[in-house]
Amino acid sequence: MAASNAKQANLRKKNQKRGLTVPPILIFSVTNRCNLACRGCYACAQGRDLSGELDIRDIEKIITEAKALGTTIVLFAGGEPLVREGLLDIAAHHPQLLFLVFSNGLLFDARAIEQIKANKHIIPVISLEGDEETTDARRGSGVYRAVMATAQRLKVNRIVFGSSITLTSRNYDMVVNERFIRDLKEMGSLAVFMIEYVPELFNRASRGKMSTFPISQAMFMAVQLP
Ligand code: SF4
Repeated sequence: MAASNAKQANLRKKNQKRGLTVPPILIFSVTNRCNLACRGCYACAQGRDLSGELDIRDIEKIITEAKALGTTIVLFAGGEPLVREGLLDIAAHHPQLLFLVFSNGLLFDARAIEQIKANKHIIPVISLEGDEETTDARRGSGVYRAVMATAQRLKVNRIVFGSSITLTSRNYDMVVNERFIRDLKEMGSLAVFMIEYVPELFNRASRGKMSTFPISQAMFMAVQLP
């Protein structure tokens, strides 16, 4: 991976010299579809509009082009990326890149686990909101336990994975503290992404007066713990 990182960085430098700025990270929302309906989800708010959904072959083509240009990391988001059949096959075809698959954690069947296990450059990042009560309140009854079961399967299979938390006024105190981060580490999560919640109404208006969370503080805490 280190060698391909250097190769991708060189490609970016070459492109920069000819006036083309290539981002090292590609954030790719591959669908609006999802098997959940969490409260306040922007993908749900878009009405599951599938009109702009790319064909899986187009996704492969874009990733191949991004690799040729010098991108190093591809972050799959959604909706729920794993509803896209063949997505992990695409990731498996490109071991020179690092793939972060942001998922609700409910669609890791035996094939997905085997595929990820065989391809160390694919890193699942599974979502929680905090403890069981807080997670289920937003994501639906039983979701917390299902995600914990996935985490256990990933851990048992020695798969490197991370977790993703959406920060809101309701879970901020619970998740921005050492104890919670240590619990995630115990669960097997080796990285934590704290993502600021953007209310859909605010998003639509783009001129709301939402106060922001000190997200840098949260991320700092996540990377400081031994
Ligand atoms: S899992 Fe993600 S995409 Fe699916 S409903 Fe929940 S927040 Fe939306």
